[in-house]
Amino acid sequence: MADKVSSKIDIEIPEAVADDDVWAQFRQVERITLELTQSYKYSLGKYSRFFIELEKRRFMATGCPGCNKVYAPPRPLCANCLAVTDWVELSGAGELKTWSVLHFSPGSNDDVRALETPYILAYVLLDGADTLFPHLLKAPLDQLRFGMRVRVAYNDGPVQHPIHLMHFVAD
Ligand SMILES: [Zn+2]
Repeated sequence: MADKVSSKIDIEIPEAVADDDVWAQFRQVERITLELTQSYKYSLGKYSRFFIELEKRRFMATGCPGCNKVYAPPRPLCANCLAVTDWVELSGAGELKTWSVLHFSPGSNDDVRALETPYILAYVLLDGADTLFPHLLKAPLDQLRFGMRVRVAYNDGPVQHPIHLMHFVAD
């Protein structure tokens, strides 16, 4: 069987089978290791412009015309008053509010697998925004300070997910 099937085959046969075991002829177990690769389309929906502008090295947020709250990451609706928000451009500069140092990578996609540990997951309050933006910060660990100035840095890819066209760096 193993030379006719390209999947990894693992056949298990228990040594001792009791005489009164009615399932004796069915105790041989074959396990097959299959590797699946799947590609599918995923819409970024109303958030699309954020990612389209990232490719042009522009950092977009959304602002509420009712209460003036500015969302970065953008939200299509204001969480405060449910008004439909408008796109606004921010400078990409901001302040480090808090961070985690990750010594283990979940390796959830090629972009994350490419990160060397330890790496920094930062919460940044961008100038002009009212919400925290969580993302990768590339900075020396011994330079991290609450309130330090950071800014968005862009790269040209290729990346698996467009959010990795940006990260934060010390300003
Ligand atoms: Zn609002």
